[in-house]
Amino acid sequence: MSKIVNNIIYTNKIKTNMQDIKQKRCSKCGIIKDADCFREINNKYRANCKDCERLYAIAYYRKNEDKILASMRTAGEKVKVKKRKRKRFFYYKAMRFRIHYNFKTDILPLAKYLWNQWRRQKGCCAITGRILTPSNAQIDHIIPRKRELVINDFYNLRWVTKEGNKLKSNMEEDVFKQLIIDVYNNIIR
Ligand SMILES: [Zn+2]
Repeated sequence: MSKIVNNIIYTNKIKTNMQDIKQKRCSKCGIIKDADCFREINNKYRANCKDCERLYAIAYYRKNEDKILASMRTAGEKVKVKKRKRKRFFYYKAMRFRIHYNFKTDILPLAKYLWNQWRRQKGCCAITGRILTPSNAQIDHIIPRKRELVINDFYNLRWVTKEGNKLKSNMEEDVFKQLIIDVYNNIIR
């Protein structure tokens, strides 16, 4: 409680200090200007006025134009490559999955669903909670698939690690949970 009170007093103090300053001399051009001619960062006014900062930024850009543009281009290229790789991974997984289980859906919505499901799980295995990687990630049926049945909707799918998938195999959720509890109790006994 006292911490919060202290904090409020502290921030108020800074704010009143800032409000106290009505005019300030720019350390670049030396002109005394109103306080709102200066940018504020972390409750402090910058030493140079906005005009001087703008001029400096323009001069810097003109001087290093090639370098800046090149770095922007490489950064954009990196993002593109990353996105392309990601797209390819989910598309590939969806395609393989569709063929393997004779899914009658289109690849693209399935790939999109798998990508969104990955994000919903925050990139972690639904069974073990371990971090998923493209090399260890597998698609798991929440309700086990029966061989004769073709389940057309993909809301039954989630991402698991290889180990998690092997462990669960084709058990029902409740049966699997009970097995884990039994194993755990047996180990710590
Ligand atoms: Zn200035």
